[in-house]
Amino acid sequence: MGIMAGETTEPGGGVLPQKKKGYVSLRVRAAGGRMTAEEMETIARTARLFGRGYAVATTRLNVEVPWVRREDAPAAVAMLAAAGLLTGSTGPSVRSVVVCKGDFCRHGLCDVRDPLLQIDRAQVGRPLPRKLKIGIAGCPNNCTKVQFNDIGLMGQAYPSFDPDVCTGCGACAGACREEAIEMGDGGVVFFADRCVGCGRCIAVCREDAIVTAKTGFAVFLGGRAGRHLQIGSRLADPIPFDAAADFVDRAIAYYIAHARKGERFGEMMRRIGEEEVGEALSPGSTFICPGSV
Ligand code: SF4
Ligand code: SF4
Ligand code: SF4
Repeated sequence: MGIMAGETTEPGGGVLPQKKKGYVSLRVRAAGGRMTAEEMETIARTARLFGRGYAVATTRLNVEVPWVRREDAPAAVAMLAAAGLLTGSTGPSVRSVVVCKGDFCRHGLCDVRDPLLQIDRAQVGRPLPRKLKIGIAGCPNNCTKVQFNDIGLMGQAYPSFDPDVCTGCGACAGACREEAIEMGDGGVVFFADRCVGCGRCIAVCREDAIVTAKTGFAVFLGGRAGRHLQIGSRLADPIPFDAAADFVDRAIAYYIAHARKGERFGEMMRRIGEEEVGEALSPGSTFICPGSV
């Protein structure tokens, strides 16, 4: 589940000095927090042998083994690496991807595991002008808060209605939490501007009067959390689910080519102009109201 054995971690990456002198914390990359039982056992063994017998989950779904003596770090890193676990996700590089459990969540609209693994293998650890964070959510419930990442992807499914098949049962209106569907005299009335693409109405319609019109990842660019909050701007057009890894690759290549040293993705976007960046990454798709879903 973790990183393929034989790959290398970024130089010096994943070894973080602690406040207490002489100790470091080892950040173990876990693609989307997913680990096999064997990998968890290796982390437990490393923590017992070199740390204080416990590990900590980080906000980006990595695992840190704290309280490792600095002089023991190379041996501890080697023990992890022997099991295919890499330390990293630090410094000016592509950080570990934060992803929800969308592929097995009952609300999930897409497989998040495939894009996660593709992006993890191709991008995480790649040296950059500054750090870059990626978040993926399987539906508009947005458990991973993707707008606060440099690149955020959120699964969506938009409905279309066939009035000829509709029986007027009202199940769709009852299921919609956004009041985007009302039952009128002539049947279903749809308010597209309120729809967030959660797909609930599609799931509850037994008559196939509502079907999926459009699916894909909504893309948010230039967001960040931390000291200087910035909500990512949304591209008007979602991208197909299977185009996520390619899109991310294109966005990172653009960032490497255009960002100044120390500049985050969003800072680069504002300097160059959102429209120009959007056009370069997704021709024909402009940004819509920043931060909206
Ligand atoms: S974002 Fe949606 S699919 Fe992902 S865990 Fe939350 S509810 Fe489930
Ligand atoms: S759930 Fe389907 S059949 Fe029932 S009102 Fe909605 S569209 Fe019509
Ligand atoms: S997709 Fe979700 S938000 Fe849109 S109309 Fe259906 S239930 Fe409502």
